[in-house]
Amino acid sequence: MNLFDVYPLFDIEPVKAAGSYIFDKKGDKYLDLYGGHAVISIGHSHPYYVEMLARQLNHIAFYSNSVKIPQQEELAEKLGKLSGYDDYNLFLVNSGAEANENAIKLASFSNDRKEIIAFKGSFHGRTSAAIAATDDTGIIAPVNYSSNFVFAPFNDIEAAGELITEKTCAVIIEGIQGVGGVQIPDQLFLKKIRALCDKMGSFLILDEVQSGYGRSGKFFAHQYADVKPDLITVAKGMGNGFPMGGVLINPLLKAKHSMLGTTFGGNYLACAAGIAVLDVIKNENLIENALQMGNYFKNQIASFDGIKEVRGNGLMIGIELDSPCAEIRKQLLFDHKIFTGSSSNKNTLRILPPLNVKREELDIFLEAFSQIFVKTMAA
Ligand code: PLP
Repeated sequence: MNLFDVYPLFDIEPVKAAGSYIFDKKGDKYLDLYGGHAVISIGHSHPYYVEMLARQLNHIAFYSNSVKIPQQEELAEKLGKLSGYDDYNLFLVNSGAEANENAIKLASFSNDRKEIIAFKGSFHGRTSAAIAATDDTGIIAPVNYSSNFVFAPFNDIEAAGELITEKTCAVIIEGIQGVGGVQIPDQLFLKKIRALCDKMGSFLILDEVQSGYGRSGKFFAHQYADVKPDLITVAKGMGNGFPMGGVLINPLLKAKHSMLGTTFGGNYLACAAGIAVLDVIKNENLIENALQMGNYFKNQIASFDGIKEVRGNGLMIGIELDSPCAEIRKQLLFDHKIFTGSSSNKNTLRILPPLNVKREELDIFLEAFSQIFVKTMAA
């Protein structure tokens, strides 16, 4: 059997990883400033994470959600404390798309409405409602098109004011748009959306799948705007590579048995991974490190002549050039052994390192980038 060929692949075969580095089959060492697509929060194969997962595996790996799993409660308690959402409830799933899918369903169950407002440039995942809320016609299958989903221009308060009405079930927005090229919602924009949702009886869903878990320099990116969403979705950095996701739910939204469900969500191994991640983020002050390293990096990169714009908070950074960055990204990878990310906006390079990245590691990128960039500008 062959693999279904949906991924354009780099000819690199990683066999080992540690901290901010990946080692391939040939013995080459790569600096990972992509974090496996914003997934690696506490660094590759962190010893505490490895120990927690191995210990759990030796006890019990799986049973269904029909029994008590105290590790789920420990995870919820630690997540509540570290995120500042102690009073919210947690529903555990397996991925970012599934988290958004359930958040949208829960909103709809709760106010019995079906119109969802999403934003231009958004990406919310590839399941039914998540993809319908995603602004990319190339990846929405005909079966997933729905007139229930309406797209508003990003950061346009007036347009949002016209679209959010008493028919609106929920507004879904990323804490920072990731795939869309690291676009930050204005603080005032988020506040206004919150107020409109309150006025219309609509729910505010913050997709923090990529921007959450400390990546922005706060636990959640929306905390810069000091708004409280009704539902917050998480995944990626939550498990540091172990597939898991979650929905943080305002206690005003009430649970009913069987309204939501999943076979694998909240399994023992996922919880062990999730607890390890939260312990390391807290004990090693990784949110503070993300903020400091992000500020250092942004200041350094902004001093390069010819860069159109540097956007982002913490370690979620977009470097926008005047032209497509694919060639620079390839040179970084193959000539300098540095992984970076791209965006749907082809000119924007995305930098998403582990939250414990060191200044010296960022300097390796800055040196490589300056060599390539100066050459490209001169050509
Ligand atoms: N939401 C955002 C903001 C994302 O960036 C992604 C993935 O890139 C998703 C949702 C979907 O997550 P997953 O691929 O885990 O389903």
